[in-house]
Amino acid sequence: MSNTYSQPKDGWVCFHCGERFIKPGTACDHFGPRPNSIPACIMKFEDKDWLMNLRKLEEKNEDLKLINISLKKRLKRAKTK
Ligand SMILES: [Zn+2]
Repeated sequence: MSNTYSQPKDGWVCFHCGERFIKPGTACDHFGPRPNSIPACIMKFEDKDWLMNLRKLEEKNEDLKLINISLKKRLKRAKTK
C-alpha cells in the first residue's frame, strides 16, 4: 500500500468499518495490497493468521503477474528476431 498510495497525515480510514490505520503495514493488512483487494473487515476473518496468509498470497500473485508480463515481452522479442 505504501507504494500504491501516499500516506495521508492522519492515516487511512476504512469507510466500511471506520477503523483508522496510521502505519502503512497495518493499513495494507486491512485493505490488501491492491486497490481492488477486499478489506479484512468485509471478509470478517476471525483467525488473523488466515488473513496474513491471504495477504502474502495476494502479494506473491502480484509478483508472479509482473514476472509473467516480463517473460511474455522477452518471448515476443525473441520471436521477432
Ligand atoms: Zn474496514
